[in-house]
Amino acid sequence: MTSARELGLCRCHTCGLLVRYQVGSVCPRCASKLQVRIPRSLAWSWGFLALATFMLLPANLLPITHFYNKGLLQSDTIFSGIMALYRSKMGGIATIVLTASILVPVGKILGLGWICWQLQRSKPVRRKRQLLMYRVIDFIGRWSMLDLFVISLMVALVDRGVMLSVRAGPGATAFAGVVVLTMMSARMLDTRLLWDKAAR
Ligand SMILES: [Zn+2]
Repeated sequence: MTSARELGLCRCHTCGLLVRYQVGSVCPRCASKLQVRIPRSLAWSWGFLALATFMLLPANLLPITHFYNKGLLQSDTIFSGIMALYRSKMGGIATIVLTASILVPVGKILGLGWICWQLQRSKPVRRKRQLLMYRVIDFIGRWSMLDLFVISLMVALVDRGVMLSVRAGPGATAFAGVVVLTMMSARMLDTRLLWDKAAR
């Protein structure tokens, strides 16, 4: 299958307009700089992914919430918060929080890592796998804020009726870091690289 690049065309990465490409030209519609491929896309993507993986440690080990329980300052990590929800017979919410705060972020990191690795290999990618990879990136991009939303819900819901004030701990900042870095990794990954790797 012919790609736009082979025809001397380039799709604007900002507004999607298809234009005839010349080095250094800008998009006639939105004035963004035109790039046939994002420069060093894979290196950027790997870099953000490595940082996101590293941030998983403080996100899971440091307290995500601090609260007062009967006058005593207590803290919850993501995991102890989930266990507390289960113990308080809020299994449904606990499952949602577990999915959004552990399974989804780790799944996104593994998915992006797999795609980067496949793109890096010299072996061409088969069309079916290529499309699957494209859909994974698309899916990650579309739902990238969901876990951040759910975790903020958790901070509100974890109020088990015993505390006067809840505030976010350093783990919450690290978790937001994981989400944002994963988003940056997905954003820097140029999906057009997938078409260049097509099995011929
Ligand atoms: Zn444009």
